[in-house]
Amino acid sequence: MTSEFRDQLYIGGQWVPPDSSERIEVENPYTEQVLGHVPAGTAADVDLAVSAARRAFEGWAATPAAERGAALSRFHQALAARADEIARTVGLELGTPLKVAKAVQAGLPLTVLSGYAELAARPAAEETIGNSLVVHEPAGVVGAITPWNYPLHQVVAKVGAALAAGCTVVLKPSELTPLVAYLLLDAAHESGLPAGVLNLVTGTGPVVGAAIAGHPDVDLVSFTGSTATGRAISRAAADRIAKVSLELGGKSANVILEDADVVKAVKVGVGNAFLNSGQTCTAWTRMLVHRSHYDEAVELAAKTAAGYTVGDPFDPATRLGPLVSAAQRDRVRGFIERAGARLVAGGLDAPVPATGHFVAPTVFADVDPDSELAQEEVFGPVLSIIGFDDDDEAVAIANNSKYGLAGGVWGSTDRAVAVARRLRTGAVDVNGGSFNPFAPFGGYKQSGIGRELGAYGLAEFQQVKAIQR
Ligand code: NAD
Repeated sequence: MTSEFRDQLYIGGQWVPPDSSERIEVENPYTEQVLGHVPAGTAADVDLAVSAARRAFEGWAATPAAERGAALSRFHQALAARADEIARTVGLELGTPLKVAKAVQAGLPLTVLSGYAELAARPAAEETIGNSLVVHEPAGVVGAITPWNYPLHQVVAKVGAALAAGCTVVLKPSELTPLVAYLLLDAAHESGLPAGVLNLVTGTGPVVGAAIAGHPDVDLVSFTGSTATGRAISRAAADRIAKVSLELGGKSANVILEDADVVKAVKVGVGNAFLNSGQTCTAWTRMLVHRSHYDEAVELAAKTAAGYTVGDPFDPATRLGPLVSAAQRDRVRGFIERAGARLVAGGLDAPVPATGHFVAPTVFADVDPDSELAQEEVFGPVLSIIGFDDDDEAVAIANNSKYGLAGGVWGSTDRAVAVARRLRTGAVDVNGGSFNPFAPFGGYKQSGIGRELGAYGLAEFQQVKAIQR
């Protein structure tokens, strides 16, 4: 088992000492004890990592597809050997219940990386347009900045795609959950990934993140996190006209039409809203229900929420762990306090374990679609239920959001797909259609710019060149 106390950064194919002796402590959000630490990197560390990535770029970009695919395949194998450790680490640093941690926090990034190993092995597409040969080339040195809620998946969605495209990467994981990224770099090192192709600098957003976003030699910044930080990163990159791709927040609607299977729609909808304690950017946090089913849906959602077992992430019975930090818990409690809607489950007075950053699974009915609760991303286990009279009203309420990341629609298939087409959002699941890790993922409006996952995700890390003959 590896240590949670990490004192080095990974730059140029080696574990190296950081510029500063300052460290960032990592808290276990269930025990509220210090779990480990990582270096607080500096701009000087970022400089070294960007130089290493630049030096490695030409060679990695020119590596034949089959060889690059084989390298990523070895990387995937080394990571897969750590699957249990990944789930355990995310359980410790984020508090995700172990079962979900195994399936989603470890399983999903492994699937995504193996998909990118396959895509990397295919030569980049070329086409002829008139007298032009159009080729796709790696975009260059990538800065990858990621959040804490799916700490390995969000990293792999960027790193896998960027490396498959032939880019080199400087990665900064979230300072709240940096430990699982060390397992990724352990796997990269063990698998013999060429020096400088993937580099790790841990640290805070304002220091390391800002240094990456503003670095003159970073060609593309790929960011997942809050809309506010996405804005700051876009501004920093704008000064040098660097390409930016952003995966930001969401306030997704789960639309339950008149002819839906209401019981299934509500149960799946509540599960979706509370996945990872509601700390999921795609969470269906607004449940929109046709008036003919409204009371039944409210009752069922309240009952489902009340049935959640809240507690120790490592207890197999637990379905809802703590939130990532005290700050996040207090932020979520603030939304509940100001909700101004009818509380039907959970709330501030519902019992939760005395230790750990818990918020009880909470459901509000009769939520005003324009209220703070219906408009702002809560990022906790809080579901808002809103009624509607017909499909047009459902679409209008669903689209009444500055975000547009995900969503669900339930009803007879043709009708549900017709509604899905009208939603201004990057993904919609009809009647519980399952998440597809190879389909494009990303947002409309303030949910982001660009797409991740699969071939669309890889294309984000390419430039297109026209050669006239
Ligand atoms: P955050 O924006 O605070 O932090 C994300 C990352 O940005 C962290 O690594 C942080 O250190 C870094 N950062 C902070 N300030 C920075 C700055 N000035 N310059 C450069 N980097 C900086 O977000 P978070 O709290 O870690 O994550 C939660 C948010 O992420 C939620 O809003 C959620 O919806 C969003 N999210 C979106 C997606 C998606 O794919 N669309 C996925 C997961 C999370």
